[in-house]
Amino acid sequence: MAGVKKSPTKKSFFQAVFEHSLEAIAILDCQGQIVEVNPAACQLFAATKKKLVSKSINNFLMSPLNWEQIQGRGQIKIEQPKGTIKTVEYSQVKDLLPDYNLLVFKEIADFNRQATAELKLHHQRVELFAEVTLKIRQSLQLNEILQTAVTEVQRILQADRVLIYQIFANGTGMPIKEAVLPEVEPILGVEFPEEVFPADYRELYTRGRVRAIADVHAQDAGLAECLIEFMDEWMVKAKLVVPILQSFKSQTKTDGEHLWGLLIAHQCQATRQWTEFEQELMQQLADQIGIALSQAELLENLEGVVAERTAKLRQEISERTKAEAALRHSEEQLRLIANGLPVLIAYVDKQQHYRFNNQAYQTWLGLSPPKLYDCHLLQVHGQAEYQQISQHVATVLRGETVTYERDLVLQDGCMHSLSVTYIPHLQDKETVQGFFALTSDISDRKAVERMKDEFISVVSHELRTPLTSIHSSLKILATGKLGSLSNQGERMLKIADEQTERLVHLVNNVLDLQRIQSGKITMNKQACQARELMLEAVQAMKTLAQEQGIQLSVKPSNLVVWADRDYIMQTLTNLVSNAIKFSPKNSTVVLSAEIKSQQQSNSKHRGISYITFAVKDRGQGIPHDRLETIFERFQQVDSSDSRKKGGTGLGLAICRQIVEGHGGQIWAESCLEQGSTFYFTLPELIQLKSDRHD
Ligand code: ADP
Repeated sequence: MAGVKKSPTKKSFFQAVFEHSLEAIAILDCQGQIVEVNPAACQLFAATKKKLVSKSINNFLMSPLNWEQIQGRGQIKIEQPKGTIKTVEYSQVKDLLPDYNLLVFKEIADFNRQATAELKLHHQRVELFAEVTLKIRQSLQLNEILQTAVTEVQRILQADRVLIYQIFANGTGMPIKEAVLPEVEPILGVEFPEEVFPADYRELYTRGRVRAIADVHAQDAGLAECLIEFMDEWMVKAKLVVPILQSFKSQTKTDGEHLWGLLIAHQCQATRQWTEFEQELMQQLADQIGIALSQAELLENLEGVVAERTAKLRQEISERTKAEAALRHSEEQLRLIANGLPVLIAYVDKQQHYRFNNQAYQTWLGLSPPKLYDCHLLQVHGQAEYQQISQHVATVLRGETVTYERDLVLQDGCMHSLSVTYIPHLQDKETVQGFFALTSDISDRKAVERMKDEFISVVSHELRTPLTSIHSSLKILATGKLGSLSNQGERMLKIADEQTERLVHLVNNVLDLQRIQSGKITMNKQACQARELMLEAVQAMKTLAQEQGIQLSVKPSNLVVWADRDYIMQTLTNLVSNAIKFSPKNSTVVLSAEIKSQQQSNSKHRGISYITFAVKDRGQGIPHDRLETIFERFQQVDSSDSRKKGGTGLGLAICRQIVEGHGGQIWAESCLEQGSTFYFTLPELIQLKSDRHD
């Protein structure tokens, strides 16, 4: 029946699919032998159906497959008769028919080539970017970094002009770096008019906008008229602009980014479509510049800090060098002085090791200073000598200055008298670090003193006998038993008597002093009531006091001292007689004795209680600078004192010898025109202490 469509059988349907499929299809038996192929398969294997059928498919593959084991999908390489190799993806349908497998092939070579090309391009870009980044980062100098950036961008993009436009704080800006083709006009250093870069543009760029303009004149570019004019002036046809943002740290606000400038590429000879890659490259390089800017700023700060610190260090070093030179100079001077002085100078540390000795050690003792260094006192001086000095060393190491005298045979083989002073070296005014030892040769002085004493002694002795006879004769004459004298004769006799008495007094004083000083006398110490001593002295001075119109008063005391009665009486009477002599009429001289254990500073007597005697007057007083010297021999505040007051200037020197012979001290305190007080201390008789408290 005409016009009746015959429905296709399943077989013819599949046959058509098989024949016309663009995919290559092959039917294999279970050993991999080709049973049937479609035209596409013939094309793939580049062989006729006849050549393929009944052959193992492995004959056409580069590496044979085990068709019994493979499953599903995979890739194979086919070698065509002409040697062309094709990579093919296959899909296997196992047991489509009993003992037959279906294989569908798809050539994937094209797809792979495209993917590889893209991969390669991507690779190239990554490499390019890495290379440019490296070049930028290779320098720490911002100038170099910026110049490299524009040069590299220009090279890669083949743009006519690439520039870095820096934006200043006031919103204006100018190109500061440029890479430009020789035939294109440079724009470096040209300040852009404000209207071509208004504030809203800056705002957009701050937010990261990228401007890729293929044609500056195109409507869709949307450029302002003035900007187009400006572009024309510089022959710009296309441009690509990316922002350079620099991150900043803020103390008050959160950290952020600010628009430092723009990276701009110009195309002048023709319009240009900027690819995504080009835009991306520009943007990434702008980011790198931003990082470099922050680093450069840090570096600049760091360099500033380093420069400042270096300058300070240099100054410090120069100051230190100067100070060290000055110190060396001063040390050298001190060494010269120390070596030039005719005294032994040493510094000994608290472990009693010599730390310094001057040159005199060599000449006096034959001990070389370098050899003495670090040696112990015992090692240097030997056991016997060390024993003599060790008590003084112990004293100075307690923080007290000590002066003592000793005789020693020096390098010249002669005996010398030496005066040694140890001065403590205190740190923080308390801790003793060591001591300075100063030793001077006082042999000459001692010899002179001895001669002088002997001379005085001889003269005084020689004077005393005739003086005593003269004095006695004058006294007899004064009685009138040998006949009366005229008035004038009596006056002359009186003067002669007074002056002889003075002379006797002087000679006696000189001899007294000399005797006490030479240690020839012994103190006959006993318990003495302080009050009794004072009353006795007052009694002895009563007549003198009455003559001068002075009252004498004794403050009650029940203290007992351990002293030589006669010598203390001599001391007290001398002080009272001075007080009377120098007091105005009708004033009172007061004697007192009190216990003042703290007064005694002498270490030898530390811990012993001392009684302080005081003789206080209301006299003319003593100038402050004479309070010490009046205790020396023949010292008077006023040289006319001896004439007016009849003194010898020896009384206080004798008092000092007596008091020190008792282990006490004597001193004076005074206020001019108000009076003076003379103090001396004597050891208290401890045994009687309890009686005193009863
Ligand atoms: P003199 O025999 O001259 O008194 P001293 O040694 O006793 O010798 O005294 C020495 C000097 O000290 C005196 O000449 C006097 O200048 C001064 N002097 C001593 N005691 C007193 C005093 N109480 N008031 C003022 N000056 C004094």
